[in-house]
Amino acid sequence: MILSRKSLISAAILLAAAAPTVASPSTKTTSAQKQKTERVIVLMLDGLRWQEVFSGADSTLMNKENGSVKDIDALKKKFWRDTPEARRETLMPFFWQVISREGQLHGNKTLGSSVTVTNKLNFSYPGYNETLTGYVDPKVNSNDKIPNANKTVFEWLNTLPQFNGSVAAFGAWDVFPSIFNVERCGFPVNAGYQPFTLLPGNPVIDAMNALKRDMPRRWGGEPYDAITFQTAMEYLKVKKPKVFFLSLGETDEWAHEGEYDRYLESAQMSDRLFGELWSTVQKMPEYRGKTTLIIATDHGRGGAPRGWESHGATIAGAEDIWLAVLGPDTPALGEIKSSKLTQSQIAATIAKALGKNYSQVQPRAAVPAPVFNR
Ligand SMILES: [Zn+2]
Repeated sequence: MILSRKSLISAAILLAAAAPTVASPSTKTTSAQKQKTERVIVLMLDGLRWQEVFSGADSTLMNKENGSVKDIDALKKKFWRDTPEARRETLMPFFWQVISREGQLHGNKTLGSSVTVTNKLNFSYPGYNETLTGYVDPKVNSNDKIPNANKTVFEWLNTLPQFNGSVAAFGAWDVFPSIFNVERCGFPVNAGYQPFTLLPGNPVIDAMNALKRDMPRRWGGEPYDAITFQTAMEYLKVKKPKVFFLSLGETDEWAHEGEYDRYLESAQMSDRLFGELWSTVQKMPEYRGKTTLIIATDHGRGGAPRGWESHGATIAGAEDIWLAVLGPDTPALGEIKSSKLTQSQIAATIAKALGKNYSQVQPRAAVPAPVFNR
C-alpha cells in the first residue's frame, strides 16, 4: 500500500531532520516576443525516473531478479531496442515524437542537463509542495494528510480575476486535497477514490465514480490512473479550465512493488494519455495555440540494478528528476544538453507561462526556468 510504504520512508526521514536548502540560480531571459500562452496545463507523473525518460527500458532490470518480470521475452519485444534513442521513443512516443520536436526536455544527466529536487527528502508531499509553491518548507516532512500551510501557485492564480473560477486539480493520490489545501484554496481538487460531484448527471463522471466505488482497491490511497485520467479529461472538456493540474501515480506504485514490467507499462500508458490530452486540447479553440504544457515528477528513484524501487533522503540519485515544456512561447530546443534547473523553479515557471510574476507574492520562490522566449 502506498501510504504505509511512503509513511515508512517519511518516518525514516523525520529522524534525519531536513535542513532548508537554497535554490540554484538561473539565467534570466529578456522579454522580446509577445506572449501567446493564455492557459496552462501541468501534468505530473509520480516517481518516474529520468533514466527511463531519456534512455528507455533498462536491460539490468528486465529480468526476474531485479525487476520481478513475469514474461521476459514479451517485455523485451515490447520495450527493448538497440539504442537509447529507439528505446525511449518506444517507451514514450509523445515525449520523443512530439515534445522533443516542438518543445523542451530537461534532465538528461548524461548530456549535462539536470533538474534537481532541493528538499533533500525526495518523496512525494515535499516534492509536490516544492513544485507547487516554489520553495522548500522543512515542516513539510511527511506524506500525512496535513492541510498545507503554504499556498500553491495555483491558489494565487485563482485569486486573479483573469483565472478566478477557472482553476482545477485532479490527482490519483489521495493526499492532493491536503497538498493544495482544498478547504482554503478555492478551487476543485479531486483525488483518490473520492467521487467527483461537481458535474452531476455527466455519464463519464458517473461511470468513473462507479468504478471508484466498486473496483478492487490494490492501493488504499490511489485508484488506477485510467479512472483519474478519464475523470480529469471529462472535466477539462466540459469546463475548459484555464489553469489545470493532473497527477498520475501508477509509475510510483509499481516501482515500489519492484515490478519493472508494470512500471514500464504505466510509463508508456501515461505518455499515451498525456499525448491524448494534448491532441484533444489542440482541437479545442479555447486551448489551441495558446496553451503551455508543463510535465514534471515529484522525485526520482535509486539506480539500477539496485535501489530503483525506492526513493527518499537516503537513496542516492532520488533527487534527480526531469522537466518537459511544450507550448507557443517555448522555443523548440528538444533535448537540452546543458542546463541546471531545480524543482523549486517550476511554480514560478507555471506563473510565467501565463505572464505572471510569482515572486511578487512569493519572494521565497525560486526564479522561473528559462524555457520561454520572453
Ligand atoms: Zn513513492
